[in-house]
Amino acid sequence: MSTTTFYHEFNTPGYKGKVSFPTGVFINGKFSAGGDRTTIDVINPTNGKVITKVAEGTPADVDRAVKAAKRAFHESWGLSVPGAERGKLLARLADLMDEHFNELAALEALDNGKTYSWARAADLPLSVGTIRYYAGWADKIHGQVIETSEDKLAYTRHEPFGVVGQIIPWNFPLTMMSMKLGPALATGNAIVLKPSEFTPLTALRMCSLINEAGFPPGTVNVVVGYGHTVGVAISEHMLIDKVSFTGSTLVGRKIMEAAAKSNLKNVTLELGGKSPNIIFNDAELESAVKWASHGIFYNHGQACSAGSRIFVQSGIYDSFLKAFTEKALSLKLGDPFDTDSYQGPQVSQAQYDRIMDYIDSGKKQGAKVHVGGERHGNEGYWIQPTIFTETKPEMRIVQEEIFGPVGVVIKFEDEADVLRQANDTLYGLAAAVFTNDITRGIQFAHKLEAGTVWVNCVNHMHPNVPFGGYKQSGVGRELGEYALNNYTNVKAVHVNLGHTI
Ligand code: NAD
Repeated sequence: MSTTTFYHEFNTPGYKGKVSFPTGVFINGKFSAGGDRTTIDVINPTNGKVITKVAEGTPADVDRAVKAAKRAFHESWGLSVPGAERGKLLARLADLMDEHFNELAALEALDNGKTYSWARAADLPLSVGTIRYYAGWADKIHGQVIETSEDKLAYTRHEPFGVVGQIIPWNFPLTMMSMKLGPALATGNAIVLKPSEFTPLTALRMCSLINEAGFPPGTVNVVVGYGHTVGVAISEHMLIDKVSFTGSTLVGRKIMEAAAKSNLKNVTLELGGKSPNIIFNDAELESAVKWASHGIFYNHGQACSAGSRIFVQSGIYDSFLKAFTEKALSLKLGDPFDTDSYQGPQVSQAQYDRIMDYIDSGKKQGAKVHVGGERHGNEGYWIQPTIFTETKPEMRIVQEEIFGPVGVVIKFEDEADVLRQANDTLYGLAAAVFTNDITRGIQFAHKLEAGTVWVNCVNHMHPNVPFGGYKQSGVGRELGEYALNNYTNVKAVHVNLGHTI
């Protein structure tokens, strides 16, 4: 196969329209076949059928992409393009994403299985908002003037690394891409990005929008491919000075090893989680139930910040569990494009099998399936919203990231008890606290070992606010001003204004 055109006619209650765009390995502003001329099947998770085939990239394609990026960085991008110009291009890209808002949401729903309505309500606004937010930063990247003595001047410059590698997962494909592109481009880096092999469609659609926005060819290169080939090639490449990865802790560790063994490239990691959601006796019950459900079942549990361990204080445990059960049973599983569907299928057969294996392990280790625990429907990868009770701290379903619609509800007595349990995890991505006592909420937020703590809400993300993990949930922060630090090297310049040594 050489470069090809994706074509799909959406004729659904949620979205109607014809979508067509070129696909392939995107290097130096052009699409081509992958080095081995092989393809990857893109699967529709609602029925397991092939939607389309896209070019499979290879390590040789990564090398071509890195060289194109390096050239672009030196000749038409990087420090030679003023920040205001970079900002204009990013703002144009955000406008184009807005123009194609429904189309991008539909592609995301088709490819990932998330509902079209949630893609419109959450993924797209955060994606476009993130690109627009970093458009605003592009002309505000500056260092400091540092006083040393009267006859010396010292100042810092925040310079782009050059070529950065970016590897992203399948759960929020466009949002993850936007969170990577925004700060890297605002600071003047050129990019080689690998989308997940499971969900390449929005990334490929973005390539044409990137060209249309007017970015110089080679500024952004996109190579779809497998982790063990393209991902490894990015993390080992000697001309990539920085790699930013979002995905599992297991692979994050491999990325760090590859960086250490190659050129000691700078690494940012956004990894997994097993986030506690703590509900005190004085919480608004109805609201806590709604948020707890959103915490674990949003995006079918495929959220790194999923509130998968739900701790409920003994005074409201029974009433919470009753209301939470009713809520879980009320969630409508259905076609992602049906306007009333809350939950679509899991992304892939592999992910479906992995989650069902966790459900089995919970049953075998003696936990009680309070709700769900079974497949939904006859085809595709749906799993019922599932709640376990009567768990023990050492069970796999309590300790490990399941990345599916499976939560554990655990009773606790007092603050000390729940703090110890909440922090008893190798992860530290996010946490939530529900209480009507704002002092308690804030004091507790400060004690939790997590990069994000939500008080009386969950899963809120905003382009302006940093996101990232403590412990084995990651290194560095995405979003907000903080993410700019991921993409710049600090240079100190000392100038001698006098004649003394
Ligand atoms: P994954 O780690 O399996 O894959 C992520 C990406 O890495 C994919 O593009 C994959 O092809 C690539 N990859 C796989 N092996 C590789 C290797 N050896 N070298 C280089 N690249 C390789 O994760 P996933 O299943 O796609 O996503 C789910 C995971 O992502 C969960 O653990 C979730 O918590 C995490 N995640 C974290 C965040 C965050 O912000 N912290 C956000 C979303 C997802």
